[in-house]
Amino acid sequence: MKEINLFGRIILSGYIRAVTGLHVGKGKEGLMIGGVDNPVMRDALTNQPYIPGSSLKGKLRSLAEKRDPATQPNKSIGKGVTIHVCNDPECRVCRIFGIPGQEQATAPTRLVVRDVFLEKESAESLKALDSDLPFTEVKYEAAIDRITSEANPRPLERVPADALFGPFEMVFNIYQDDDHDLLATLIEAMALLEDDYLGGSGSRGSGKVRFVNLEVKFKPVAVYGDAGVDISTMGFESLEGARSAIDSIIEKSRQEIQVPKVAGAA
Ligand SMILES: [Zn+2]
Repeated sequence: MKEINLFGRIILSGYIRAVTGLHVGKGKEGLMIGGVDNPVMRDALTNQPYIPGSSLKGKLRSLAEKRDPATQPNKSIGKGVTIHVCNDPECRVCRIFGIPGQEQATAPTRLVVRDVFLEKESAESLKALDSDLPFTEVKYEAAIDRITSEANPRPLERVPADALFGPFEMVFNIYQDDDHDLLATLIEAMALLEDDYLGGSGSRGSGKVRFVNLEVKFKPVAVYGDAGVDISTMGFESLEGARSAIDSIIEKSRQEIQVPKVAGAA
């Protein structure tokens, strides 16, 4: 196995606005007595709904996979979910998002996505909301029985539209020079997500999100040992702004987090 050196980390942070109601749940875990049959994920400590980093990362991965014919889903990971996995060291999807634990990893995963909690003020206003459940609303969706065509209203718990989550944090590790270029794939997946949906019930209108007030921070490894090193940042009001500046982000990244050319390499 070749040597693995960490040269720096790019910290991408910002906020996630729920443009429509957001339902990030655990999937079909059975009916809860007196509750909705489709609850949202809640933080055990605060009881507030949150977006698990794994859900956000999984969604970005699936969008990045579908974007490229070379990375179509090929491996079942249970619960009816199929993802793309390969051993190609050049594969952008597997380098960024990693491959499941039981597979033989040829390179470290570049991306870490942390859990995203409700922004403070947003949590306060949702707390003051007069609703059936703390911080959320219950939406009744008409599920049409395919055989009898009878409408059968199903309760779905959602975080109301306009709620703000954040700050979110994504950590992108730089191990080799062309990792800088992978930032474009990540930003593109985020842009695809804005026109897709996060969480469940997306085809029925839930889960439209926007990334706002973004900050990209470039941290060469030297900053971890020396607090005096300046850290460069770039800011963007919207993802659209970051997307159109992707070439300068990558250029800045290369400049701030330098990967030495290996002696003898082309
Ligand atoms: Zn792959």
